[in-house]
Amino acid sequence: MKTTENYLIRSNDNKIKIKRVIETTNRGTLPLIPNATPDNLKKIPWLDQTFLSEKQGLEIVVQLFVIESNDKIIIVDTCIGNHKDLTYLPWANKQSKFLEKIQAAGVVQTEVDYIVCTHIHLDHIGWNTTKINNVWEPTFPNASYIFSEKEFQHAKKYENKLHGNIIEESINPVIKSGQAMFISPPYSIDNNVTIIGTPGHTPGHTSVVVNYNNLNIIITGDMIHHPCQIACPDWNSYYDFDKDLSIKTRRRILEKNAGQNSILIGSHFSGSSFGQIIKDGDKYAFDILCENYEQKD
Ligand SMILES: [Zn+2]
Repeated sequence: MKTTENYLIRSNDNKIKIKRVIETTNRGTLPLIPNATPDNLKKIPWLDQTFLSEKQGLEIVVQLFVIESNDKIIIVDTCIGNHKDLTYLPWANKQSKFLEKIQAAGVVQTEVDYIVCTHIHLDHIGWNTTKINNVWEPTFPNASYIFSEKEFQHAKKYENKLHGNIIEESINPVIKSGQAMFISPPYSIDNNVTIIGTPGHTPGHTSVVVNYNNLNIIITGDMIHHPCQIACPDWNSYYDFDKDLSIKTRRRILEKNAGQNSILIGSHFSGSSFGQIIKDGDKYAFDILCENYEQKD
C-alpha cells in the first residue's frame, strides 16, 4: 500500500518517501528552553519567524512522520493521543480528529508495519493506543512497536508518574498484544532505515536515520527541540534528563551532519520542519529547504 503523494521528502526514484501529520501546535506556552528569551533569540540572525510565535516565544509542533521504505510503512512517534491521563493538562483527555487526519494522509491503520517511538514521553507515544469500549487497544493492529530497552526501563521507573499514566495506557497494551519489540540501538529496520542512540533528553533516547543513495536524513526526536538549539547547542530543554549528555549528543549530531548535504528533520520544528545544517567556523546555522523536497539526480 502506498500512501498519497503529499510527501515532505522523496527520493528521485520514489523508493523512499517521508510525509508528516501534525497533531497540534504549541505557540510559546510551554516552558521549553530557559535560555531562549526573546532577547537571546534576536541574536540568532538566521532564525526564521516561522519558528517563533507572535510573542516571540518558541513555536512547537507535535507531529508524526510516515516513512515508506521497501514497500513497508514506518511511523516515527505517535504524538499525544485521545483520552489520555496526562499531567500536562492542555494535552490531557484530548478528543481530536487526529486519527481521521492520519487516514486522510493515506495511512491505513492495518497496513502500518512499524511504529518507532524515539522515546517514552507523553507526546511521542500517545496514539500507540486508542480507547475502545473503555479498553486501550493498539491503534495499529499489525505493526511492531519498537522501543529502546534502556528507555523502557527508565520510563517505568522515572517518567511514568511524571507524565500521568503513560506506561499503562500507551505501552502495556502493545506488550500485551505481543506487538512490542525492545531493542538496543543501533538497530536497522531495513537497508535504508536505522534507529540510532541519541541519549541525553532521556537515557535511552533514539533518532531515526534514513540513508538511501545520496539521501541522508535524520529525524531527531527530542535530542533537539527547536532550531535555536542549532545556533546554541548548549541551550538545554527544561525537560532534558541529563543536561551534559544532551549537549554532547546535540553537538555530535550537528557536527556529523553539518555541510554533508544531510537533511535534518526536527520532530518539533514548525514550518516544513526540515533543512540542512550549515557550519560557519565553530557555529552552526539552519538552511530551510522548500516545503516539498524531491531529490535531484
Ligand atoms: Zn517531545
